[in-house]
Amino acid sequence: MSLIVQKYGGSSVAGADMIKSVARRVAKTKDAGNDVVVVVSAMGDTTDELVGLAYQMADQPGARELDVLISTGEIVSSTLLAIALGDMGYEAISLSGAQAGIQTDTAYSRARILGIDSKRLARELKQGKIIIVAGFQGVTEEMDITTLGRGGSDTTAVALAAGLKADSCEIFTDVEGIYTTDPRLVPEACSLAEIGYEEMLELATYGAKIMHPRAVELGELFNIPIRVASSFSDNPGTLIHGGASMEARNKVTGIAHDLNVAKITVVGVPDHPGIASSIFEPLAKAGISIDTIVQNASIENITDLTFTVAKDDLEKAMKVVEPIAEAIGARQCASDSKLGKVSIIGTGMQNTPGFAARMFRALSGKGINIQLITTSEIRITCIIDEARVNEAVRTLHKAFELEQAV
Ligand code: ADP
Ligand code: ASP
Ligand code: MG
Repeated sequence: MSLIVQKYGGSSVAGADMIKSVARRVAKTKDAGNDVVVVVSAMGDTTDELVGLAYQMADQPGARELDVLISTGEIVSSTLLAIALGDMGYEAISLSGAQAGIQTDTAYSRARILGIDSKRLARELKQGKIIIVAGFQGVTEEMDITTLGRGGSDTTAVALAAGLKADSCEIFTDVEGIYTTDPRLVPEACSLAEIGYEEMLELATYGAKIMHPRAVELGELFNIPIRVASSFSDNPGTLIHGGASMEARNKVTGIAHDLNVAKITVVGVPDHPGIASSIFEPLAKAGISIDTIVQNASIENITDLTFTVAKDDLEKAMKVVEPIAEAIGARQCASDSKLGKVSIIGTGMQNTPGFAARMFRALSGKGINIQLITTSEIRITCIIDEARVNEAVRTLHKAFELEQAV
């Protein structure tokens, strides 16, 4: 007998009939002789709606209350699925993240899983029950409810697969698997049969919202193969794993984009030791994640420092940086909130020259101005005007011939 963890995303449980159809898929897995643990997201746009309600109550809702509120979306879908399975004659039990033993730190809205106390899960499985776990949530030592960050139900599923030493982890969603880029943006995008953790992590981190980055990280850490497939078909989808064919194919694997980019430039900064830390330490203390950092070569000991943050963090970051800029004698502090990034990703690019030149040529051919560039060994990212991001993705997909990917 195998233990299978299945996760169904929000668009797969968006209405009553869809939940019943998920119940039939789960039942089929159980009938095949498997133990089944299911993770569900909230129905459709429920999480967005709950966040919207909270912001009608206050400009800045308290983080603790907001987490309790948005965790309820997954409670609704998990209980409905358990009720549907019960009605079909199966023994099913819904568990909140806390009841499932998912222990997290106290970082509300982006909590990290510290461990899973699997006693309750093991007991229910032993009794032959199908367990439905509410995704995207956990509990602190103090029994406060936390959430794992938007899209975090994927992480719940992979963490449970690791904690329970499951035989397989399946993520069911509204597309046929991992594509060369978002198939909603580029209809010619191709579904990949397999992809390595490393490439998937870069895709997810740089904006491909098909998988929560933390889920991919956990998959790699615990060596759990993750199958991503459609909840509406029986096609095999994409296997994310460590043994994906890594031969240098001299190719880009995929393109990611992210519209959530804002830029801050501190202009005319005196160039001496300690300046960077005087800016970035207070930002870190304020809990603001910095992405790209670029410092120009200094002329006469004066330089410009540019970095990017998520759009939601821009106002908070400016409040931290402006007084520091003044104190260190910088000339000006400027910001731009209308940016996005586009990234080409692939282990096939490693040690192979020419990819950056081809990317820049393709973008300049469309008159798209590149504001900042960052790279890793298997990724090149350009920060550009938000309004040109979709066009940039289509252009690069064509330039790197990804419509022919297998
Ligand atoms: P779920 O509700 O199942 O968690 P998400 O909306 O979080 O689903 O993720 C699925 C969506 O991710 C797809 O509908 C697709 O538009 C988008 N997406 C972005 N990049 C990719 C990609 N490279 N491959 C497949 N889908 C992608
Ligand atoms: N419901 C949560 C969200 O919308 C978590 C998830 O869907 O994975 O972000
Ligand atoms: Mg998702």
